[in-house]
Amino acid sequence: MDFRLDSDQELIRQTAKEFAEKEVEPLAAEIDRTHAFSWDLFRRMAELGFTGAGFPEEYGGSGGDDISKLLIVEEIAKCCASTAATLCIHQVGPYGIYLFGSEEQKKTYLPPVLSEGKVAAFALTEPTAGSDAGAVKTRAVLDGDHYVLNGSKCFITGGALAQTVLVFALTEPDKGLRGMSAFIVEKGTPGFSPGKTENKLGLCGSETAELFFNDCRVPRENLVGQPGKGFAMAMAILDSARLGVGAQSLGISQRALAESVKYLNERVQFGRPIGAQQGLSWYAAEMKVRIEALRGLVYKAAWAKGAGEQYTLDAAIAKYYGAETACFCADLALQIHGGYGYMKDLILERLFRDSRLLKIYEGTSEIHKVVIARSVIGLK
Ligand SMILES: Cc1cc2nc3c(=O)[nH]c(=O)nc-3n(C[C@H](O)[C@H](O)[C@H](O)COP(=O)(O)OP(=O)(O)OC[C@H]3O[C@@H](n4cnc5c(N)ncnc54)[C@H](O)[C@@H]3O)c2cc1C
Repeated sequence: MDFRLDSDQELIRQTAKEFAEKEVEPLAAEIDRTHAFSWDLFRRMAELGFTGAGFPEEYGGSGGDDISKLLIVEEIAKCCASTAATLCIHQVGPYGIYLFGSEEQKKTYLPPVLSEGKVAAFALTEPTAGSDAGAVKTRAVLDGDHYVLNGSKCFITGGALAQTVLVFALTEPDKGLRGMSAFIVEKGTPGFSPGKTENKLGLCGSETAELFFNDCRVPRENLVGQPGKGFAMAMAILDSARLGVGAQSLGISQRALAESVKYLNERVQFGRPIGAQQGLSWYAAEMKVRIEALRGLVYKAAWAKGAGEQYTLDAAIAKYYGAETACFCADLALQIHGGYGYMKDLILERLFRDSRLLKIYEGTSEIHKVVIARSVIGLK
């Protein structure tokens, strides 16, 4: 067992670190303040090959393994969690097309979103189908050479900006979960329109939108994979997406610790640096332990995926522990900074707000405990 990064992974990490520190960090506070999606940063990430990281070059990807892909997310999340989330969730729909799509679908739809600066989205959640993703109501009815989609989606990251959306809809409602299928829907398709963009607590630079389908006619060839396999496909896609949340958590947690260490050394109260107070120094120790444990969980899950092992449980553990760790570290870091941590002048309150979503999206912490418990206890 070798815990070191190889030279390719180290190079990618270094490139991402430089990009994050030089190009993302200076814009991060403004992106958060204005709730603005940064097309400039997104296109730069496409130029650098980040939007296509982990995908084969023949489909517009830039190659690299799963750990490399996560290293990029981790480095960016240290500076701007919104940009890291945008990058991660952008890749979710394309990953589904890559895993389950036909050769023609991969050649047609992947290059624009992996390397040409177009955004992609993954649309599963609906107003009545959140944790219970199988309760989707959007219908897709075959009519000649087209499927006709009717329904709506909510909380879709990049939804209003996306060129290509992977949409889940019921083709055979009587069959419940086994009646769900996946479709590629392109921006501008008649009957497909974005609704309101959400005003969020955190990750403000990552766009979140409603989507509506009103007699939206999608060519039959846009069905991805087998009809009726949509739910199983969505779950497989989300296993991979959860590693991305683990990497976002790792980045946020490390930034929280780095800020804390600086302040513990600089801030003087009662005639000495506050880090000399044992109680406060233990906060740093607790963060460090959790971060190292999280790193092991995230990289191990990514390794298992890359090795072709069954990694659902590893991904669920990494996602669950990641969200808990990021919230823990962001909260303690804010506490260490006292009143200054609560002010918008410093990054602490942004880390605190941004980290909070990690317990909710890509499956809540409660649902992850359900998944982990089922696996541990052996329940179906
Ligand atoms: C900013 C943001 C971005 C998102 N991006 C996307 C996206 O790009 N694509 C997409 O498809 N979705 C996206 N989502 C949706 C996200 O995955 C859901 O919000 C999440 O799965 C929870 O669903 P819900 O919000 O409906 O909560 P609910 O499912 O209504 O849950 C409410 C509460 O009940 C708990 N709960 C529910 N069922 C159980 C149970 N069986 N056992 C224990 N506790 C339970 C939950 O944990 C939660 O605490 C996004 C959400 C947000 C907020």
